[in-house]
Parts: sequence; structure tokens; C-alpha cells
Amino acid sequence: MSVPSDCVFCKIVAGKLPSQRVYEDAHTLAFLDIRPVATGHTLVIPKKHYDDLLATPPAELQYVVESARLLARGILLATGSEGFNLGVNNGTIAGQVVFHFHVHIIPRFPSDNLRPWGSRSDGADGRVAENIRQALKGVSGS
Ligand code: 5GP
Ligand code: ZN
Repeated sequence: MSVPSDCVFCKIVAGKLPSQRVYEDAHTLAFLDIRPVATGHTLVIPKKHYDDLLATPPAELQYVVESARLLARGILLATGSEGFNLGVNNGTIAGQVVFHFHVHIIPRFPSDNLRPWGSRSDGADGRVAENIRQALKGVSGS
């Protein structure tokens, strides 16, 4: 695994860049997003560098999700929020800017006007479902 020397999140893990840390364990680190979309917007990352979700091994994903679950409880208590969005931007087209895997925890508030998924169409297409089932025969979960 190559680690980009200019990765901002690796620098945060190493303490070479400042951050508002809220949680740390052996495998994960969480800190406030520097440009929050809501009060308490927190990022959870594996301490090891992986470019994105697909590059992150299952065990590391488990660590991150477990930390996110713990953090979400704390964020709700600390902010008075009653719910949150858990988000991953995977790939440039999805809005990923920092290519060190991370999960966003975004607490929600009444009238915050956040619309994470924009507009929708109607119907679940059976041909698309079949295409995905076929494609899954060629991919591995690990
Ligand atoms: P992405 O769009 O890649 O899913 O999200 C990257 C997030 O990292 C953005 O929300 C951005 O505000 C945040 N971010 C980028 N650089 C820094 C930084 O140096 N410190 C912190 N705390 N957050 C950062
Ligand atoms: Zn990194």
C-alpha cells in the first residue's frame, strides 16, 4: 500500500496538521470537518491510508463503522440533534475530494434544508437489478 506523502488526513493522524479531534482508538480517528455542513459534522477515518471505500479492507471498514456508531451517539447528545446522515463520497464524480477513506457523520436539525439525495425518479427497474446481479458474479467482497 503506497501512502501519498501529501495526504492531509495522514498528516492529521501523524499530528503534523491541527484538527479538532473528538475520538481516537487503535485503528480509527475522528475529528470535526473543517467546513461543516452542520454543527458537529464529524469525519471518521482509518488511521491507515486507503484511497477510498473500495480500497479499504473489510476489517478496517468494521473498525470505522463501529467508531461511527459510537461517535453518532455522542454527537447526538452533544448537539441535541435527533438524527444524522452517515455519508461516503466515493470517487471524484461523487464529490470525494480527500482520497483517504472517510465517513461523514452529519447531525440533522429541523429546517436545516439539507437535501442529501436531491431529486428522484419513480420505479425500481428490474433490468437494472438483473444487470447488477450478473455483475456481482464477477466481483469479490474482500
Ligand atoms: P469528501 O468530499 O472527500 O468526502 O470530504 C472531505 C472533507 O474533508 C470535506 O468535507 C472537507 O471540508 C474536509 N477537509 C478537507 N481538508 C481538511 C482538513 O485539513 N481538516 C479537516 N478537519 N477537514 C478537512
Ligand atoms: Zn492518508
